[in-house]
Amino acid sequence: VRGFPAELYDGQSARARPVLVIVELSGLRLRAADGADEVGYWPAEGLELEALGGGQLHARHATAAGALLSSADPELAAAVAALGRPLRALPRGRRLIRLGLMLGGAILGLVALIYASLPALSRTLARRVPLEVESRLGFQIESLMEKRYCRSPTAEAALDDLLTRLALPAADGPTAAKVRVLDWDVTNAFTLPGGTVVLTRGLLAKAEGPGEIAGVLAHELEHVRQRHVMAQVIRSSILSLGWSVTVGDFSGLMIVDPGTAFAIANQRFSRADERAADAGALLRLDRARIDRAGFAAFFRRLQADSDNLPAWLSTHPASAERLQAIGTASPPGATPALTDAAWTALRSACAERAP
Ligand SMILES: [Zn+2]
Repeated sequence: VRGFPAELYDGQSARARPVLVIVELSGLRLRAADGADEVGYWPAEGLELEALGGGQLHARHATAAGALLSSADPELAAAVAALGRPLRALPRGRRLIRLGLMLGGAILGLVALIYASLPALSRTLARRVPLEVESRLGFQIESLMEKRYCRSPTAEAALDDLLTRLALPAADGPTAAKVRVLDWDVTNAFTLPGGTVVLTRGLLAKAEGPGEIAGVLAHELEHVRQRHVMAQVIRSSILSLGWSVTVGDFSGLMIVDPGTAFAIANQRFSRADERAADAGALLRLDRARIDRAGFAAFFRRLQADSDNLPAWLSTHPASAERLQAIGTASPPGATPALTDAAWTALRSACAERAP
């Protein structure tokens, strides 16, 4: 005799008991799913049947108050027809509402899950996007800025020296493609898609020593290595729902107008990204034996001059916390980040462009 799997709720507890339902001519015999023990007999007389759609069947019986027999086996729903009892169907409207609630719940759950895992998800996805692909995002803004880059060979040599000192031996991520000085009096430093680090003339003018610029540069190098630009692009794309989450298909990201490109240059990273970039920057400074004090001094001075904060600093009201993390405990034997001559050359990178 064929037994149909079902669950029996006794109406007293929330626990569901797995049972096998045997359809007989005079009623339903319920047996424990794991053995031959009979747990109940529901005669056809007094049996209430309800079809919920999708093959789901609910049965109740007048002699078992509160109890509910529920089965998802569509063959049981067909077999009980032999009992000749009326099979009530859930009205279509209610069925749709129930389905809608289930779907809505599932979608809400999915959205919540994506939102909660967004930082980690975007970081993981970012690392899968080749840097060359990312650089296409920065192409337009790069070509806009190209005209305003300060091209001084001695300044470029100074930046190369600094890059070499700040390099990590076996970095597990891309390194900055290049570092450029932009002829712009606003104090700022940022990273373009593709890994170009841009320091402004205003930033160089504001710094009181090469150690300060070394700290800022080390921080930006960490944004490049940790793929924060791409992660940010992915994060905002997912949030704006303008991009379907398909790993390996980055074509949707390639449609970038100059406005978007500018927004990328002015982007603000998450606090977690800034903290991670600070931590990596300190590691680089310590390895290069460049005193942390310069990085800290720069923060302190910018904090005092809050009208002129660069984007990466102004997003963080807790700069005191960042200052504390930097501390001043540098390893012994610190040397200047650049020679006096190189520092002078770097600071006057844009001198030739001056009117
Ligand atoms: Zn930053």
